[in-house]
Amino acid sequence: MLAYTYVEHGKFELQEKVKPEIQNSRDAIVRVTLSSICTSDLHIKHGSVPRAVPGITVGHEMVGVVEEVGSDVTLVRPGDRVTVNVETFCGECFFCKRGYVNNCTDPNGGWALGCRIDGGQAEYVRVPYADQGLNRIPDIVSDEQALFVGDVLATGFWAARISEISEDDTVLIIGAGPTGICTLLCVMLKKPSCIIICEKSPERIRFVREHYPDVLVVEPEKCKDVVLNNSNHRGADVVLEVAGSEETFRIAWECARPNAVVTIVALYDNPQLLPLPDMYGKNLIFKTGGVDGCDCAEILSLIEKGKINTIPLITHRFPLSEIETAYRMFENKLDGVIKVAITDK
Ligand SMILES: [Zn+2]
Ligand SMILES: [Zn+2]
Repeated sequence: MLAYTYVEHGKFELQEKVKPEIQNSRDAIVRVTLSSICTSDLHIKHGSVPRAVPGITVGHEMVGVVEEVGSDVTLVRPGDRVTVNVETFCGECFFCKRGYVNNCTDPNGGWALGCRIDGGQAEYVRVPYADQGLNRIPDIVSDEQALFVGDVLATGFWAARISEISEDDTVLIIGAGPTGICTLLCVMLKKPSCIIICEKSPERIRFVREHYPDVLVVEPEKCKDVVLNNSNHRGADVVLEVAGSEETFRIAWECARPNAVVTIVALYDNPQLLPLPDMYGKNLIFKTGGVDGCDCAEILSLIEKGKINTIPLITHRFPLSEIETAYRMFENKLDGVIKVAITDK
């Protein structure tokens, strides 16, 4: 089968590999019908994910059809259309029982697919702990509608869930890339009184204005002023930082009101500085990144009810045989790309 492979630092390549097989009684084999490319894939390519293993098939955002299951898999059957979770988790350890599945103590717990074990930019993928890692897609939900459930949308949902948002709040989201938009969609479900999104790319600003006209969009330089003008309490009640630069980290704590929740969703290339003397007395609550992707069933049900729609994020489609072109476009942000869908033919 074809599998897009991490060869070495800076190099991915479409290779011919053997089809994966069941290795454990809790595994499933899924025929991938649609996958996507995530910024984390680029992080592997550029060497900022030291745990990534050369030779593995990349890709951790995908949907497909169950082909085969191990003897201890009970919740999915061959023929089921499913979403695949970015995280591998056992469902039984201390962390899993508390919903902190990102820190599952299994040796392959957390983000393993497409990083430490073979992922889904391929024709088939082996999914460990299939009862945890797969969710059945409701009949009326299409593959495209479900494509982001296991990764970027799970991240947005988790970020909104832990941010303690109430209906009186002014919420600031920093970054309108794919994860920022998914975060926005999930924050909107909490119905806060004002949502401000901070973004510098003109294309992404246009995208937000076109699709979400009720949201205030602001460039980084004007962010603090706009937040102050739209808050009764000297800043945003909740800030979600989804951009991941030094500047956006600073904007996050500067725009937060005293006693605000600041949720860090972004992954940074470098350590960030917390200037505690400047922040003294602000009494901020920081929540740090690493999605606990265990809400996929609920997310699928919200999609089924028409409450979450990520279709506008899919701006381009390519077959697996042209994944190289898709990467070039995604990596260089060409042609207004937000997300690409990689089809099986
Ligand atoms: Zn990802
Ligand atoms: Zn676990």
